[in-house]
Amino acid sequence: MSDLTAPYDRNNIFAKILRGEAPCVKLYEDEKSLAFMDIMPQVDGHALVIPKCEATNLLDLPPDYAAAAIATAQKLAAAVQKATAAPGILLAQLNGSAAGQTVFHVHFHILPRHQGLELKFRVREPEPAENLEPLAQKIRAAL
Ligand code: 5GP
Repeated sequence: MSDLTAPYDRNNIFAKILRGEAPCVKLYEDEKSLAFMDIMPQVDGHALVIPKCEATNLLDLPPDYAAAAIATAQKLAAAVQKATAAPGILLAQLNGSAAGQTVFHVHFHILPRHQGLELKFRVREPEPAENLEPLAQKIRAAL
């Protein structure tokens, strides 16, 4: 559980990914942001964008990192759209346990949406990296 005022936990999984201590299927990075595949995709092509700074949620994200993360989310939304041919793209961003946030490093979800194809919520089984890689390659190629 974490409310909006909880201090940043340097051991959260996205902090470890940023430090290179945990793996990820990387899509893109620049000086202030990183994009990678969600390990428990709610839909094929589910990607995440995180800022490269210690911020728990949107409320404590410095504006320059917020700008960088949004610019990267926009770039990724276009690439995910191309790679999946989705007619819709949903951006989601959850703040605090009460809003459903489970990883306490601020992040933006990029979710391709197709008519009649519901999102799979509460996926608990991580997808092996090799299953995420083919679509990741298409997304990288579309960047
Ligand atoms: P939240 O519920 O906090 O908005 O979203 C956290 C997201 O992080 C979830 O969609 C979950 O599948 C994803 N996630 C959790 N652990 C890992 C991990 O180790 N690697 C990656 N790539 N995604 C993760």
